[in-house]
Amino acid sequence: MFARRPPAKNFQLAIVGGGIGGVILALGLLRRNVPVRIYEAASGFREVGLGLSIGPAAYRAIPLIDPRIRDIYDSLITTHADSPGYEQYHRTWFEIVRATGSNAGKVIFDLKAFPSGQTSVRRSDFLDSLMCLLPPEAFRLGKRLETFRETEDGIKVFFKDGTSAWADAVIGCDGIHSKVRECMLPEESDRSAPQYSGMYGYRAVLNMMDMIEAVGEHRARVATIYAGQGSYAVTYPIMRAKKVNVGLFIIKPSWNCNTWVRPAEKSEMHRDFDHMGEHVKAIMERMPDASQWAIFESRYQLSTYTKSRFALLGDAAHASTPHQGAGAGQAVEDAHVLAELIGDPRVVQPPDLVVAFKAYDAVRRPRSQRVVTTSREVGNLWCLSQKGVLDDEEKLKQALTTRLRWLWDLDVEEQVNRAKSIMIEQMERRNEGFSIDSSLSNQALGK
Ligand SMILES: Cc1cc2nc3c(=O)[nH]c(=O)nc-3n(C[C@H](O)[C@H](O)[C@H](O)COP(=O)(O)OP(=O)(O)OC[C@H]3O[C@@H](n4cnc5c(N)ncnc54)[C@H](O)[C@@H]3O)c2cc1C
Repeated sequence: MFARRPPAKNFQLAIVGGGIGGVILALGLLRRNVPVRIYEAASGFREVGLGLSIGPAAYRAIPLIDPRIRDIYDSLITTHADSPGYEQYHRTWFEIVRATGSNAGKVIFDLKAFPSGQTSVRRSDFLDSLMCLLPPEAFRLGKRLETFRETEDGIKVFFKDGTSAWADAVIGCDGIHSKVRECMLPEESDRSAPQYSGMYGYRAVLNMMDMIEAVGEHRARVATIYAGQGSYAVTYPIMRAKKVNVGLFIIKPSWNCNTWVRPAEKSEMHRDFDHMGEHVKAIMERMPDASQWAIFESRYQLSTYTKSRFALLGDAAHASTPHQGAGAGQAVEDAHVLAELIGDPRVVQPPDLVVAFKAYDAVRRPRSQRVVTTSREVGNLWCLSQKGVLDDEEKLKQALTTRLRWLWDLDVEEQVNRAKSIMIEQMERRNEGFSIDSSLSNQALGK
């Protein structure tokens, strides 16, 4: 997998944004001896302390990026096996339970995920541990990118604190509000601004004991989706099953607020969830904070994830709703492909990066943009509101299985091989004097 002694790279990369995507990419590049530095806006690497689950395909990709990432993930995860007596749910992703109507509480089916089942880490613990793997010279904190200027010599990156830095290429891992995206594709910047997805939610972390009191031992310990009419609830154990992560989501076509998080009264939560069955109502009673979180997504599909010596990764390129727990996983898949391309011994000079970025775009854009769509659809499925499915249990099983199998069964190594063969072919074209061409996406899709 790794070249024994890859030739020295004649370039310096800048990663803008040190979230999960940026840090994992940096680790993958450093492992392949690629000179890289992260510029992070915050004064420390920060993640809100809520749960994060890496789906099966990304779980298979992380050791290929750097085996230490999977070691860290495995050392931090909570699984069903953390609840004594629940080991047989090891492969369960979620039990899907009816939340409304006369059948409220009925298990519709046990949705399994191979090989990992339900795994979750506290985001902050995961990022903190990854951070410890980075050498100090590989990151700069308090560096908020404002703009950049590309010259023949490279790219000058300007930060809000008045300082600047040079790099030969810039990879924007700066999240859903990406400044890199705005500067790289100004002509698409209005359309690519994140859009309200039509759902908002309430979030909490509850003590396992409180959760058991609310919904009983089994429902508290086994990750559950409560599928209701126009709304759903999700609960899963975190922190070695001492706590439970809770999200209550509702379809609401408009969000009349300038901010993403809106303080709200408990009465509004009641208005939104009083139609749900006893379990969800009991959870709602225990939610300490009624703030509403708008769910945004990149509904507009960017025409490209790269231009010249710039590329976008993770939410900066394709932010999706959280309904199938795939956003960070997509950033991991991006990082895997990009690290393998840039680490390839044929990529030595800055112009080689342009070709590598194009191959990355050709392979990663179709899949990650489709994830944005399937994620929205899965939200509708949980709310028994997806056209053609609604609350038909057989159709629901079928629709979920089809979408999730497509997401999870990816052959991550084949994805890299496909990207590499595109890159090599395009390098040959370039060396013969042809332009790197627009048939790339078709090639990537196997057309
Ligand atoms: C409620 C919720 C639950 C979710 N659950 C899951 C889940 O279970 N599984 C899953 O796979 N995904 C989940 N996601 C999605 C996941 O959180 C994101 O897809 C993931 O965090 C994206 O990582 P990223 O590195 O691309 O961006 P981010 O995590 O947003 O990181 C961007 C970084 O860039 C920095 N930055 C921003 N602007 C600048 C600038 N101008 N200059 C320098 N730095 C800058 C930020 O400070 C930040 O550190 C969930 C999302 C939500 C909202």
